[in-house]
Amino acid sequence: MFSFTIFGFRVHVQWWFWVLTLVLGSGFLSVPGRMGFFLLVSWLLVFFVSVLWHELGHAFAFQTYGAANPEIVLHGIGGHCTAHGRYSQQESIIISFAGPMYNFVLGFILIAIYKFILGGNISVSGLSIFAYGVNTHYVDPIFTAALYANIILGLLNLLPIYPLDGGRIFEAIMANRNPSIAPMVGTVVAGGLVILGALRGELFMIIVCGMLTYQNWLRWQGKGHRRIF
Ligand SMILES: [Zn+2]
Repeated sequence: MFSFTIFGFRVHVQWWFWVLTLVLGSGFLSVPGRMGFFLLVSWLLVFFVSVLWHELGHAFAFQTYGAANPEIVLHGIGGHCTAHGRYSQQESIIISFAGPMYNFVLGFILIAIYKFILGGNISVSGLSIFAYGVNTHYVDPIFTAALYANIILGLLNLLPIYPLDGGRIFEAIMANRNPSIAPMVGTVVAGGLVILGALRGELFMIIVCGMLTYQNWLRWQGKGHRRIF
């Protein structure tokens, strides 16, 4: 693990974060020759910046609401940002939403740079997004990866599964109405993703979503403080 400070926030990077990044970027190694290695190293940087940027969104929001020392940890399933203090329902929702919003904003900035400064094209079809037309060997795959990283990070984190941002937002909204609904929905959605992972043969997805299903199930049974990660 190594640590550094950025914008006054302490950031701890665990070695598991690099394992996650390598697993997600392993497809780049199918590119032959030195280019594959070059793309993989670029991906490490792109994913690191994208996850850190997401957590900085939370950290700045925490700071806005008076948190003294928000801390960021990048770990084996992404990252999280913690800060002491009590926050109102509305503040909690905004703090949770800030991370995905930062990813969407960075995604739009990247699209603008790619289209209007580099003169490339962006194609979107279904869940796929491609940057093409600038440099097929290097610039296009890295921009495509950076767009994917930010848009997928933003969208995935909005799923209503605790401890993802969407799950925290849903829990905050339901806290005064029916608190058991949020962990129940989290259990069902995460469980559905385990089945989807099994159908697609994605071991990593099965493991992560399996842990999330168990954690949400514990919260549903009122044992929410038994956190796994
Ligand atoms: Zn987040």
